Amino acid sequence: MALPDETALRLLAERKIEIAALPLVLPESAFAGKGSGLPCSLCEQPIFAHEYELEYASGDGEIPRFHVRCQEIWQRTLSEWCNANHLEPR
Ligand SMILES: [Zn+2]
Repeated sequence: MALPDETALRLLAERKIEIAALPLVLPESAFAGKGSGLPCSLCEQPIFAHEYELEYASGDGEIPRFHVRCQEIWQRTLSEWCNANHLEPR
C-alpha cells in the first residue's frame, strides 16, 4: 500500500500539531523496533512487522509511534511550527 506523499504528510503533521494530536515537544527517548501493526500517529497506516517503528516514551497518555519517514516529517514540521509560532523547540 502506498503511503501518502510527503506534502500531504507535512500538512497532516501541521494540522495534528495545531490540535495537539501530536506532541509539541520532542520526547526525550525513542525506541526503534519492529512494527507492531498498530497505526502510525501521523499517517494512520499500520506499521507492519517488516518496517521499523519509532515509539516514544511520553509521560502519560497516548504513546506516539511513527514510521521512520513519518517521524522525520513530524520532527521537521514541528521545528518549523515552533519557529513560526515563536516557540523554542525543546
Ligand atoms: Zn506513518
